[in-house]
Amino acid sequence: MSKPKSTAEDVDTTENEEATESALTTARRQLNRAATHVDVDDGVVERLKHPTKVQRVSVPLKRDDGELEVLTGFRAQHDDVRGPYKGGLRYHPEVNADECIGLSMWMTWKCAVMDIPFGGGKGGVAVDPKQLSTGEKERLTRRFAEELRDVVGPKQDVPAPDMGTDAQTMAWFMDAYSMQQGETTPGVVTGKPPVIGGSYGREEAPGRSVAIVTREAIDYYDWEIENTTVAVQGYGSVGANAARALDEWGADVVAVSDVDGAIYDPDGLDTKDVMGHDERPGMVSGYDAPRKLGNEELLELDVDVLIPAAVGNVLTADNADDVQANLVVEGANGPTTFAADTIFEERGIPVLPDILANAGGVTVSYFEWLQDINRRQWTLDRVHEELEDEMLKAWNAVRKEVEERDVTWRDAAYVVALNRVATAKATRGLWP
Ligand code: GLU
Repeated sequence: MSKPKSTAEDVDTTENEEATESALTTARRQLNRAATHVDVDDGVVERLKHPTKVQRVSVPLKRDDGELEVLTGFRAQHDDVRGPYKGGLRYHPEVNADECIGLSMWMTWKCAVMDIPFGGGKGGVAVDPKQLSTGEKERLTRRFAEELRDVVGPKQDVPAPDMGTDAQTMAWFMDAYSMQQGETTPGVVTGKPPVIGGSYGREEAPGRSVAIVTREAIDYYDWEIENTTVAVQGYGSVGANAARALDEWGADVVAVSDVDGAIYDPDGLDTKDVMGHDERPGMVSGYDAPRKLGNEELLELDVDVLIPAAVGNVLTADNADDVQANLVVEGANGPTTFAADTIFEERGIPVLPDILANAGGVTVSYFEWLQDINRRQWTLDRVHEELEDEMLKAWNAVRKEVEERDVTWRDAAYVVALNRVATAKATRGLWP
């Protein structure tokens, strides 16, 4: 089924577009737009365009060859009116203050949409983790944890994995923090290995929630999951887990990709047989499939559902008109630029936003934090059941706004989140 092309000549593509739009710019534009749908004090909205605090630290790293390199790390803390700051730490060459601030804003909304008692944070180090040995990564993480020691803590700010970091990174971070504190403090980070206080099911949670939201959307639009074709960009933890769950529930995952390219099988891929980028790098594009495609071609495939689950800013004004999917579900954080969002709205292509779709990650992080505080581990079945419940609650809250206000899914999710954050501020009396 083909969708109409956008008629929006006036979408501003020069000033705000291209793959470099900062997460902060996008997050502020989204907030401005959503604020028009809610009755929230302008001052509160203005405040929420800014972070409470941004910590910038220098992280000296001794490379294996003995050279010393001084890297830069950040921790942006956006808002904590509903609870401790929460959000990932990423290791990526493009990490900078504005990116962390924008991503921390999205965490505030994500936690509020899920109604979990956290605010938004995000941080990272500007470094290419692929260029680091395991020992270098460990030294970097321990030093970064030491530099952030004063601003993080189970009741203050709780980091988690994000791009370029994983359960092992969190284990080192937790160990370094605990050594400094003089007591084992598992609740300082989430996404740890289960043997040291991590939660079962945390690793697959963001992908699982993407699949749950996709399944609910398929039902909402009266499609049949068995007749639904899906393309997934990015086959890391989010993409692979989303693809596998949807495949298991009956959808045809016809295309997946990693950084090197995409594979396509019109009859549906065996998603369990395709190894994820984290499991065996290079295996996706090396897989024996009927057709190989470029990453850009995957985004423009004629499928029912497109799941961008790799990096930010992949759906832009340059390609939004060529997307043929009938539904976009955001697996990555910020894969759709503001201008692309406008084009999708005009073309009638719903976009299920990141702050709802991939929120399973932070939700199971919250379960992990509860398990750490109570010193009692949950079973995987319990995690799955509670995640399903929380996702459905959030889905229904957002769906209600879509129906009542006739707004996009992103605006609806923002309305839910913004109302909760603003009400908390008003109730605590922080404003004016
Ligand atoms: N980095 C993940 C996200 O963007 C998870 C954050 C967390 O679990 O705190 O949602």
